[in-house]
Amino acid sequence: MTCTDDAAPPAVETLESPARGGVPGRVRSGEKVRPEQVRVHNRELLLRTLYREGPHSRADLARRTGLTRVSVSEVVGELLADNLVVEVGTRSGSRPGKPAMMLEFHEHGHQMIALDLSHSTLYRGAVLDLGGTVVARRDVEIGGSTGDDALAKVVGLVGSLRDQVTAPLLGVGIGTPGIVDVTGVVLSAPNLGWKDLPLRSVLVERFSCPVVVSNDANATVLAERSYGRSAADTLLIRVGVGVGAGLLLDGTPVLGSRFAAGEIGHVVVDVASDRQCVCGKAGCLETWLSTRRIRDDLSRARTDAERNRVLTVAGESLGAVLAPIVAALNVSEIVLSGPHRVLEGPLADAVTATIRERALTEAHGDIVLRLSDLGDDIVLRGAGAMVMDQQLGIT
Ligand SMILES: [Zn+2]
Repeated sequence: MTCTDDAAPPAVETLESPARGGVPGRVRSGEKVRPEQVRVHNRELLLRTLYREGPHSRADLARRTGLTRVSVSEVVGELLADNLVVEVGTRSGSRPGKPAMMLEFHEHGHQMIALDLSHSTLYRGAVLDLGGTVVARRDVEIGGSTGDDALAKVVGLVGSLRDQVTAPLLGVGIGTPGIVDVTGVVLSAPNLGWKDLPLRSVLVERFSCPVVVSNDANATVLAERSYGRSAADTLLIRVGVGVGAGLLLDGTPVLGSRFAAGEIGHVVVDVASDRQCVCGKAGCLETWLSTRRIRDDLSRARTDAERNRVLTVAGESLGAVLAPIVAALNVSEIVLSGPHRVLEGPLADAVTATIRERALTEAHGDIVLRLSDLGDDIVLRGAGAMVMDQQLGIT
């Protein structure tokens, strides 16, 4: 099944440049509004309302969105034809007249392929429905692959997942470590051996499908916003094969002027350290905190006290890097995402203690640090959320 099949939704556009806020057809303030933009705006508005708020009748939708009943009926007709909305029966009400037909966002009408490249031993992949539920899974062993080998494994994984898709495919979402620009070029991912790799273009050409590629921490923060319980101002730290941060300010992800916002893994924590990093420097945060380095350090620890020390030093390193960020932005919440058995306990405690010691004043109030409860699928679900944002305008 591919997006070029007849069953694919005709009104879903394949985007050439999937920039947030730069999506063709989106309405921006100050621009002259074209009829096509109005159509896309109305379509996204109705879909968003049904997705976030549950079933509505056509009349409910008109009241809720301020669109005319004629516009609502027209757009709902398109959404039904595209299998993005379903009629779910009439509402028994006390009002006189014909009972209203209720409409619902159709979670099972399309599927998405999601990849998580943030682990140290496996590339993880899944087919998701539009409710974020995993329909099928495939993993592939990395086995030390980098560069072209790593790319070949990613292409192979998308191909094998495509064979598992049982509904029209909305698109492919990929969360990768490293710096990714808005056109889906991986500018730098030292852990994968990628530099200036046009990952999105390669996959679009190969699979004729909408593809969105983003940094794994940014995917994670989107998953937290869509499916988790994060505050509007949240700093999310993703610990995997690398370490990255995703930042949500006032509910909006911050990408940075060169898309490297949140690339904290290669901030040098200790200039005198001899801990060599994949980036060529020594003493980077990742040399204490990546899952690979923690695993190596723990394997050398002989006693519980030594193991605790490894985790505490990793937490202190992260706290030292986060303290100025917390002080500068006054974020209210920090969410840690990664293997819970590593992150919870001494590591998380050391992060909080270090931030308190270095940065917190009365003005910042109480900062909350918690572990993400979205589990191991968080990057996969975030990659799915990216596809829905890009293709349907809903998060
Ligand atoms: Zn480094």
